[in-house]
Amino acid sequence: MTLLLLGGTGEARQIAARLPGHDAVISLAGATRNPAAQPLPTRVGGFGGAAGFRRYLKDASITAVLDATHPFAAAITARTALICREVGVAYVQFLRPPWVPAAGDNWTQIRTEAEAATHIPHGSTVFLGTGRQTLANFANLAGCTVICRQIDPPGQPFPFPGGRFLVGRPPFSVTDEVALFSDLGVDYLIVKNAGGAPSRTKLTAARELGIPVLMIARPPQGNWPVVATVDDALKWVGEH
Ligand code: NAP
Repeated sequence: MTLLLLGGTGEARQIAARLPGHDAVISLAGATRNPAAQPLPTRVGGFGGAAGFRRYLKDASITAVLDATHPFAAAITARTALICREVGVAYVQFLRPPWVPAAGDNWTQIRTEAEAATHIPHGSTVFLGTGRQTLANFANLAGCTVICRQIDPPGQPFPFPGGRFLVGRPPFSVTDEVALFSDLGVDYLIVKNAGGAPSRTKLTAARELGIPVLMIARPPQGNWPVVATVDDALKWVGEH
């Protein structure tokens, strides 16, 4: 078996760390400038579209793909599932369960980034835990103070007035997040429903501070095999 592990999440790294000696390669999109070191041979950068991915599978003699990309990386997941089915390569998606609100949480579910503005009064201070890729979709929040946290120092100016970047590399503890949101005077938190324990800390901090959360729902899921835990992902690898 030659395994391709599609990474970009903490769990992909955990899976890789438990595959020593396996014939496996991890692939990163290259979105983060200095990604954490990976415990497996690593390739970085897109495959060059669907045709490039088909070619890569063949050239690298890949026989199984474990897709541990982010739950919002919908394009790579749908494409990979489809192509693997087409060419007869085993495929599974690692997909963490979504977050669900607990007692004391004040969440409003939204379907798109643009919808957030309909829930947020002018002049509010808004913290975006959504990354920089989809930042332009929040342009209708101009008139608010918008703070977008990202891992790398910004390479370009903030795309709309009233906003700024804040550089920070996870993980962040609840104590860190409470201190940060208090210092910044955050009125609203916007997040994607990524799931997973490490980044839930911002939601716990919001609950403790009484900050309302706008929770962006996950993109629709296709009909392909899914595992929800690192252990099940490793079990799948053992069976292929
Ligand atoms: P996407 O829209 O689904 O994919 C865009 C393109 O990025 C793909 O067509 C592919 O390029 C390339 N790509 C994505 N993941 C790759 C991987 N693991 N290895 C090689 N190429 C990859 O993905 P995205 O939302 O931009 O996310 C990009 C990466 O960031 C993913 O690996 C994801 O796990 C990670 N990430 C995403 C989010 C998020 O909120 N979307 C959050 C945290 C981390 P080609 O067409 O050239 O092959």
